[in-house]
Amino acid sequence: MREIGLSEESLFSFLLSKREEDVDHAHILSSMCTIPHPVAVRAHVQFMETNLGDPGLFPGTASLERLLVERLGTLFQLSGACGYATSGGTESNIQALRMARQLGPKEKPNVIIPESAHFSFKKACDILCLEMRAVPLDENYRMDPVAAAEMIDRNTCGIVGIAGTTEYGMVDPIAELSKIAGDHGVFFHVDAAFGGLVLPFLDDAPAFDFSLPGVSSIAVDPHKMGMSTIPAGVLLVRDSESLCSLSVDTPYLTVKQEFTLSGTRPGASVAGALAVLEYLGIQGLRDIVAGCMKNTRRLIDGMEAYGIMRAATPDVNVATFSPARIPPPWKVSWTRRGDLRLVCMPHVHAGAVESFLKDIGEQNA
Ligand SMILES: *Cc1c(COP(=O)(O)O)cnc(C)c1O
Repeated sequence: MREIGLSEESLFSFLLSKREEDVDHAHILSSMCTIPHPVAVRAHVQFMETNLGDPGLFPGTASLERLLVERLGTLFQLSGACGYATSGGTESNIQALRMARQLGPKEKPNVIIPESAHFSFKKACDILCLEMRAVPLDENYRMDPVAAAEMIDRNTCGIVGIAGTTEYGMVDPIAELSKIAGDHGVFFHVDAAFGGLVLPFLDDAPAFDFSLPGVSSIAVDPHKMGMSTIPAGVLLVRDSESLCSLSVDTPYLTVKQEFTLSGTRPGASVAGALAVLEYLGIQGLRDIVAGCMKNTRRLIDGMEAYGIMRAATPDVNVATFSPARIPPPWKVSWTRRGDLRLVCMPHVHAGAVESFLKDIGEQNA
C-alpha cells in the first residue's frame, strides 16, 4: 500500500495505461464473452451498490432477479421455473451437480458427463467428491447416448448434456438423454451456458429445454450471448425442491436461508442481463443470433475456399477448422484436439470476418 494516495488524475491515467494493454475486441475471435450491450452498461451503473446476498435490503433488485428467472424459464418453456443468478456457467454447473448429489444420496456417487464437457465439471466433481464418468463422443462430437446409458449404475446421481459445446458448438442428443434420465430416475442437468441464448432463436434447433420432461436444470450465461455485463449466469430448475436441497441457515441476514454458492452477489449485472432481454425482446435477439450464424457460415465457407476445412458443422456460432497459421493481431483459440476455434460473437461483425479471411488469404497466397 502507498502511504499517501495517488491523485485521481494520475490514478486514472495509470488505469488507462493498463486498460490499453488489453486486446481490442475488434480482433478477438476466441471468446464467448462480448462487448456488453449499451443498455446493460447503463443498467449496471444504476445498480452498482446493490447486493443480492441480502435481498431484504434490495427488494426491487431482488424482484429483477426473479423476473430474469421467469423470462428465461419461459424462454425454456417452463412457466414458474425456479432459479437464481450465478456468477456464470461454472457456478451454475457446480450447483447443479450439488443438487444431483443432495437429491440422490449414494455411497460412492458418480455423474455421467460427455468428454466434450467444459472444464468447470472437473472443478465441480473435485469439490463435490463425485466420480466423473466421461462419455465418448460420436463422429460429430456429440455425446453417445447408448454409451451414456451403459455407464449408469446404482451409484449414478446425475447426467449432464451440453447444448452448445464450448469447443465445437454442438448440441448433445438432449431428448434421448432426457428419456434415459427419466427411465432411471436420475437428475439431468443441461449445460446451455452458451447455447441457451442461441438455440431458442434458431429455426429447426434441436429440443434442449424444459419441454423435455427429464430435464431437471439448465445453466445459461447472459454474459455470453445475452450481451450482459460480467458476471451474469443463471441456473434454472424445474422443482423448487431441488434448490431447497442446497439451503443453509443464514443467521444475521434479512433472509433466513440461502441456496446460492456466493454470499454477497452483484445486482448490477443481473439488472444488466434483464435490461438486454427487455430491450431487445425475442425479435431483437433473433436478429442478433441470425447475424452471428450468418457470419459463422460465411467464415466456414471462406476458410474452406482456402483449403482450411471445417472440423465440424456446428449447431451454434462456433466454427472449428483443421490447424492453420493465423497472422497477428487476430486472437484465436485451439481445442483440446488441436483444431482452430473461432467464435462469431455479436462484436464480430461481417466486416471483421471479411478482413480476417483476407488476412488468411494473403498468407496462403
Ligand atoms: C462458458 C461455458 C461454461 C463456463 O462458464 P463461465 O461463465 O466461464 O463460468 C460452462 N459450460 C459451457 C458450455 C460454456 O460454454
